[in-house]
Amino acid sequence: MNIAHWLQRTALAHGQRPALLEGQRLLYDYRQLAARVAALAGHLRVACGVQPGDRVALFSANSPAYLEALQAIHWCGAVTVPINYKLHPRELAYVLADSDARLLCVSPALQADAQAAAGAGLPLLVLGGADWQQAAQGAPLALEPRAPEDVASLFYTSGTTGRPKGVMQTQRNLLAMTMAYFTDVDQVQPQDAMVYAAPMSHGAGLYHYAHILRGARHVLPVSGGFDPAELVQLATELGHVSLFAAPTMVHRLVEYVRRSAVQPPEHGFKTIVYGGGPMYVDDLRRAIATLGQKFVQIYGQGECPMTITALAREHLADSTHPRWLQRIASVGLPHACVQVRVADEQGQPLPAGSLGEVLVRGETVMAGYWGQPGATAQTLRGGWLHTGDIGSLDEDGFLTLRDRSKDVIISGGSNIYPREVEEVLLQHASVSEAAVVGQPDADWGEVVIAFLVAEGGLLPDAGLQARINAELDALCLSQIARFKRPKSYRWVPALPKNSYGKVLKTALRAQW
Ligand code: AMP
Repeated sequence: MNIAHWLQRTALAHGQRPALLEGQRLLYDYRQLAARVAALAGHLRVACGVQPGDRVALFSANSPAYLEALQAIHWCGAVTVPINYKLHPRELAYVLADSDARLLCVSPALQADAQAAAGAGLPLLVLGGADWQQAAQGAPLALEPRAPEDVASLFYTSGTTGRPKGVMQTQRNLLAMTMAYFTDVDQVQPQDAMVYAAPMSHGAGLYHYAHILRGARHVLPVSGGFDPAELVQLATELGHVSLFAAPTMVHRLVEYVRRSAVQPPEHGFKTIVYGGGPMYVDDLRRAIATLGQKFVQIYGQGECPMTITALAREHLADSTHPRWLQRIASVGLPHACVQVRVADEQGQPLPAGSLGEVLVRGETVMAGYWGQPGATAQTLRGGWLHTGDIGSLDEDGFLTLRDRSKDVIISGGSNIYPREVEEVLLQHASVSEAAVVGQPDADWGEVVIAFLVAEGGLLPDAGLQARINAELDALCLSQIARFKRPKSYRWVPALPKNSYGKVLKTALRAQW
């Protein structure tokens, strides 16, 4: 079992199908793509000395060569180490050393940074450069067999608490994750076009496997990332576009479509999978009203890639259901290949409706952290992955997440879940984005502070701020307990986010 086998299989059966596009330009069909990948794998083995099980790091924005590299690394039996290309060279150096990388594949634009981080000992291969193109014409390597428990990818956690850890995702994990996409997220058709608008070093990259297996199109935006205008144009020209997007990207796409005269056609977008952070109910309703029933939510984490729960299209569409509003605020039902439990501090299951830590076990749970048996034992204790997320299950099995346990605010001895407050603040027509954090306070332990971005991104003047703040107070008092109401509102031009679109609450707390 080697997941690169899917490329070989599709190339044999459907070699003429379009495989890799840059924007609207077709680069290769499946036969050509598989031939290039086999040759690149040959180059990795013969010229670079990469052996099965070796780690090959990738430090690049999205590009067609990125996808080829992922497949070529798998093809020769090595382990992909996708690294967030916005990391500082010091952080990159840490990941390269920790993973004991054998080779670093880097985009031309990042070569200088990468060279500094890699030092003299680690060879670099420039993605899409002259050597790359020549290597893609070279002698092919036979697909290297792998065992299901072999590590296929090392995914580095963002390391907001402590050093990043390398999550060992096995061949079996990625196989199960891909099957789970078909059962719980979407059926992929050959005419579909997967557009990589979010970083391929994160969730978006993990969805390329399902689209290789089904012989769909892979589209790398010319911009190399997320540009709403480009995305709408691709949807219009190519049709049947699917993508994975962080909620903040969905928000920006929807705002763009609402303000623009250009509307994507009915079959422009097929499926927009959102996840990686909370999607607020108001944003979601606006997204569905603007783009239609194209949405599916997933909840996952590096330690259980893309596959803890999914909120299916049919549940999002079922607006006559008595608990529809609760359901669309949830992250849906456990994926078919895992079991989910909400547990107390001893790991014992809690009854429906109770809040506790979300635990997961099953086919997509990581093998452990690379070289860190202590952290592995702690996170996988009792045979369950401890996600660090707080949530509750309802009687129908839908999971609602509150927050990461470290984001929970404890004020006057009571727990306050920022997400609940944010949901209320976002109902106000002048609020575009909201992030609620705790600030240390001598009397209360912590008090609630809300950071707000105004609709349109412009800062309201002091008078208008005072009026809106008073209205926000009234809104909170009408919907949530008094002690959860923010003690202070701070209007900012933008919220700090990482390159995966997650709001950096640690940065907000530091800023205050
Ligand atoms: P990462 O390992 O970088 O993918 O981050 C995973 C974390 O992102 C999870 O543990 C959750 O805290 C958060 N997350 C992922 N998906 C969702 C979702 N659909 N809704 C809310 N939070 C999410």
